[in-house]
Amino acid sequence: MSNKEKLISMGYKSYENDEIIVYWNPKLCQHATECIRGNAKVFDYERRPWIDLSYAPAKEIADIIDRCPSGALKYEYKD
Ligand code: SF4
Repeated sequence: MSNKEKLISMGYKSYENDEIIVYWNPKLCQHATECIRGNAKVFDYERRPWIDLSYAPAKEIADIIDRCPSGALKYEYKD
């Protein structure tokens, strides 16, 4: 089972572009808003889908996800 399949089986949703896959689990999200403070265009809770990876470079998104306190957000770089 790939990492992606594993995380999706755990309840994560996935968002991806050519460089990075971002995962988010609504059951774990504590709405601490670190992500929105990090970049309110990538992470916009009013929009659907609420994560849009086109608004920032993959590295910036990864740095923001590293500050998520709950583990609701995860990422992996594509090869
Ligand atoms: S930083 Fe993590 S816990 Fe906080 S709102 Fe974003 S996804 Fe949810």
